[in-house]
Amino acid sequence: MKILKNYINGSWLESRETQTKDVINPANQEVLAKVPFGENTGADVDAAVAAAGKAFNEWRETPVMKRVQPLYKLKHLLEEHIDEIARLITLECGKTFAESKAEMQRAIENVETACGTPMLIQSEFSENVATGIDEFMIRQPVGISAIISPFNFPGMIPFWFLPYAIACGNSVIVKPSEKVPLTMVRVFELMEQLDLPKGLINLVHGGKPSVDGLLDHPAVKAVSFVGSTNVARYIYQRGAANGKRVQAQGGAKNPVIVMPDADIETAAKIVADSVYGCAGQRCLAASNILTVGDSHGTVKEALVEAAKHKTTGFGLDEGIEMGPVITPESKARVENLIEKGVSEGANLLLDGRKAKINGYENGNFLKPTILENVALDGEVIQTEIFGPVMSLLHMDTLDEAIDFVNRNNYGNMACLFTSHGLNARTFRNRANAGNIGINIGVAAPMAQFPFSGWNNSFFGDLHGQGRHAIEFYTQTKIVIERWPKEWSRKF
Ligand code: NAD
Repeated sequence: MKILKNYINGSWLESRETQTKDVINPANQEVLAKVPFGENTGADVDAAVAAAGKAFNEWRETPVMKRVQPLYKLKHLLEEHIDEIARLITLECGKTFAESKAEMQRAIENVETACGTPMLIQSEFSENVATGIDEFMIRQPVGISAIISPFNFPGMIPFWFLPYAIACGNSVIVKPSEKVPLTMVRVFELMEQLDLPKGLINLVHGGKPSVDGLLDHPAVKAVSFVGSTNVARYIYQRGAANGKRVQAQGGAKNPVIVMPDADIETAAKIVADSVYGCAGQRCLAASNILTVGDSHGTVKEALVEAAKHKTTGFGLDEGIEMGPVITPESKARVENLIEKGVSEGANLLLDGRKAKINGYENGNFLKPTILENVALDGEVIQTEIFGPVMSLLHMDTLDEAIDFVNRNNYGNMACLFTSHGLNARTFRNRANAGNIGINIGVAAPMAQFPFSGWNNSFFGDLHGQGRHAIEFYTQTKIVIERWPKEWSRKF
């Protein structure tokens, strides 16, 4: 069985760690590879940091227009290999082939946006701020940057950061999730064709010891993290305590309100896609669905109808709309949360437990589940389920629904379905969430906008993607300059 190697200083190197963890296809438990996983992966980090440090010294002097040239080539490489990468994502992560491909499309859009860095990195200049004095700001790279990613978007999430980091003149070390490391390994194999300076991009496997190695190494200056809230908070605290700039995106529990004036049939279809897409394993998955006023009965019927027809199975098979969850432990956790919801008084409208998929009896499959009237003071209403489970609630007014949204500990996304502009305006003004959707089920910002997130969904100041990424990967330097007339040479 193949043991994955790290990519350090332009070469594929064996890890110092001999212990490994299996990389497993969640649809059938097939072992796809072994990834280094143990206490000694921290030593791999040291080697990667040394290489990244040397590359940074050269790269920071390279003009920005030259730094973006490899990104144009990268866009074409990713496009050429999109089907191959998408198949790999489905194999190790479980989502459907179409979902995997859509994820890579988002990755490519980030590469395209980062090609605009020569413009985005431009800064400010004020002439004559005082007599004979000019003042300006320049943006310089921060240095070695670490990117730590979660299992649910193995291809896209590193690209919220990597293209911007290198376009801004930094070197990077990517630490993919140990559950899905194959996608980044393949992407790095492709990136070898970019002829980047050795050590500019590095890939180190492992879990907590690798992450701690990055958080504690004094030469690492910036840390970009995406994952669960508890880990995000830890990364932010430990990284900041060590003097690094940190952006740490966490978990979510996303509410969606359906007003009686919405186009109910369309809204139900979009909401069901949001809840069950990627088997609910998206940080922008709708989870708590609130019907308002007299829409409850019709919305409920439409949602049950949309949910029960979702075809579940192996993501590479034709016609499959929903794949498995990532591990047997995740499946058991989701099943327990469904049980908990019922014990807290919810009515089980659809029960997706005991899903049997022909040919994939060992897969971590759950079918769409709907819990109605989940207890407002219970555990399920607040817990990120990260599985194909919808909690359906009813509120009398929009105000009541917004108050519910704003009691959420998270703040990744909140959506409203309505045909009234004033409802939409009120909602987007008052809802406490970083990404707002109006008649949208998954309010995922395009690459040119920051991927926002509030409360326990984000720790830091600047998010991934777009201008925020440029600001995160550069530090500002202010120059105040005086050239007295009396020093001038006379011609
Ligand atoms: P996770 O927190 O378990 O792991 C994320 C990364 O952190 C992995 O690379 C992992 O190796 C590392 N890690 C895990 N435990 C660690 C520890 N104790 N110390 C240091 N590093 C550790 O997350 P996951 O299960 O891979 O991903 C799912 C989570 O990510 C969900 O909560 C989801 O909402 C969240 N997510 C958030 C966003 C967002 O933009 N806010 C996007 C995608 C996923």
